[in-house]
Amino acid sequence: MYLHTPIHTLPGVGATRKAAYNRMGIFTAEDLLYHFPRAYEHRGDVHMLAEADDPALRASRVATILTVSTEPRVSRVKGRMTLCKFRAFDDSGTCEITFFNQDYLRNTFAIGSTFRFFGKVEANGKGRYTMTSPAYEPYVEGRSLPPLFPVYPLTDGISNKMITGHVAACLSLASTVEDDLPEDIRAAEHLCTVGYALREIHTPTDFQSLHTAKRRLAFDEFFRFALGMGTVGRSARITGAPVCRVSDHELDAFLAALPYRLTGAQARALSDIRRDLESDTAMNRMLVGDVGCGKTVCAAAAMYMAVRAGRQAALMAPTGILASQHAADLLPIFASLGIRGALLTGHTPAAQKKKIYAALASPVPAERLDVIIGTQALLSEGVAFASPGLVVTDEQHRFGVNQRATLSEKNGNAHLLVMSATPIPRTLALVMYGDLDVSRIDEMPPGRQRVDTFVVDESYRARLDAFIRKNVAEGGQVYVVCPAVEETAESDTDAGEDKSLLPLGADFAEGPTAPSDPPLKAAVQYAAELQSRLPDLTVAFVHGKMKPAEKDRVMTDFAAGKIQVLVSTTVIEVGVNVPNACLMLVENAERFGLSQLHQLRGRVGRGTRRSYCVLLRAGGGETAKARLEVMRTTYDGYRIAEQDLAQRGPGDFLAPAAGVGIRQSGGFRLAETWSDAELMNHAFLHARELLADDPTLAAHPGLRAEVERMYSQAGNILN
Ligand code: ADP
Ligand code: MG
Repeated sequence: MYLHTPIHTLPGVGATRKAAYNRMGIFTAEDLLYHFPRAYEHRGDVHMLAEADDPALRASRVATILTVSTEPRVSRVKGRMTLCKFRAFDDSGTCEITFFNQDYLRNTFAIGSTFRFFGKVEANGKGRYTMTSPAYEPYVEGRSLPPLFPVYPLTDGISNKMITGHVAACLSLASTVEDDLPEDIRAAEHLCTVGYALREIHTPTDFQSLHTAKRRLAFDEFFRFALGMGTVGRSARITGAPVCRVSDHELDAFLAALPYRLTGAQARALSDIRRDLESDTAMNRMLVGDVGCGKTVCAAAAMYMAVRAGRQAALMAPTGILASQHAADLLPIFASLGIRGALLTGHTPAAQKKKIYAALASPVPAERLDVIIGTQALLSEGVAFASPGLVVTDEQHRFGVNQRATLSEKNGNAHLLVMSATPIPRTLALVMYGDLDVSRIDEMPPGRQRVDTFVVDESYRARLDAFIRKNVAEGGQVYVVCPAVEETAESDTDAGEDKSLLPLGADFAEGPTAPSDPPLKAAVQYAAELQSRLPDLTVAFVHGKMKPAEKDRVMTDFAAGKIQVLVSTTVIEVGVNVPNACLMLVENAERFGLSQLHQLRGRVGRGTRRSYCVLLRAGGGETAKARLEVMRTTYDGYRIAEQDLAQRGPGDFLAPAAGVGIRQSGGFRLAETWSDAELMNHAFLHARELLADDPTLAAHPGLRAEVERMYSQAGNILN
């Protein structure tokens, strides 16, 4: 057997299972080695039967070591079902163990033999217990059994037992996996070999070795990510861009049409942009700045300059709501200056779309649309510009590197401006946006007030409804954010509350901790309860799984003031502007990253109303409390982002890379949950050094192939 041996040649894998494996992206033995467990059952923690008398333990599956005391008896119940029953004991009691439809087990459990069983123990009183279909392994006194048992991501037709067996059959191949990480880097970072890492991630010897394995594999993900970002879509500067020059006088006409004066920071950003537009090298600039700092108007000024220079300008936003909001804000200003614009989203009626397409492509300047504002609908095939000049994307992190690179070329070497309110720590920004020039708006428009922030616990709940009511009574509006309802991965174990299950991401180098987490407030149910407590207010909810049209409708109603309390998952995170909203209430705030909380807080305090952010902490203990305290004292998004990176690791920031498809293709299995920013920084540093010597990885073909695989599965092109 080799690494490239097709999966169907493994014993017990026929056409059906092959198809199931393929569905999970597993085609070869090597793919299976890279199919990491999603969690581990903690079987090393052996309990006595009597401990099941404690109700706290009864909910979880536990390991017991029991000796068989009666001969297994097989009996037939209703129709074709059979039971195989026997008794086994430890020093604290006797357990009746039952298996279904596994008659052959009668030969496995011989009287006097000892096994480690793993499952739920029911207490029936008087030292009698039962277990049903537990997992089992023969136990020999003095020989230790592995403490951690892998639990794999599964699909229909593949059980955990099956996959464990197949992995075991391939595991000897781990040592034949080529270690593409340059040896000097491996040594400098004290990383184990890839062979060791692959063996230990599937069959950990102990917590420490599992940690060592994860560290190596996470490093690889960071390293390849950085190498890929350094080579994907990084083409030479595009020349032959349209030169867009306007006089001071013309620009002043635009600024005079605004109801306010630009801040110093906005003016500086605008002069950066203006300089770029006047050159025939395409602008490739990112405009960053905290929520509410006024990036949009800078983009609008840039669009105006392109139009005055005889070109067209496009503004692309990630959601329909945001695009509509931009259109509502900007199109009237443009119109007052004699500039024709339109809005194009997925909801634009077909007939209207046709008209817009024609007006964008019209060879007659007088019939042409100068400005188009829209969603990804702007990327659709029908959209062609007669005279493209500038493309602006809002909340850039939602778009992929490749989309960005092709956007300019597709539009006649147009200038490109991307805007982002997501503060990204410097080390990460360098990797993710290293090819962009950056203008930062580090000053808020005058008159903004600080959003008063409170961190409270359950004891405050009684007063919450009254606080909501008070804000609404004064004419304000309220956001309530609940964590998204988590989808539990399919599995043949009843996960959920099972505390014996340790997720792959958990860093349990010092052994497991099992804090009992309070139940999450699901948005839908929460909204219903809130509505019944506040019957005279209008409460509505939005969540990520709603149809976009439905979501847009609720958001529009909220913006129009028809809804007073909006309960949601984090879908409102991006860009929405409802100046009348004055209270942001976050449930289970301990579950959010600080940067996310900062974004959420930025949704209020956008108008003249005194605004509040209340962070409800339902668990997480002192650590969470200390972490959330940062929110009370810090209002600078960049400082918060750095804190977040240091405290939670890079996961929250890597998620945007989903835009380049890395996550979907399985490139981030460990990196996203890795909590140590140090490892990431080192990986990035090594990647940068390597690329400085070998920009195309020509001298590192193995590494190049790995990076290519990580990125090409996501549809990116490597230069
Ligand atoms: P963001 O940078 O988060 O996209 P926006 O562009 O949406 O922020 O601006 C937030 C609000 O600030 C808008 O209502 C906008 O009209 C207002 N604004 C922008 N610039 C100024 C300014 N110089 N003075 C006063 N208000 C401003
Ligand atoms: Mg914005």
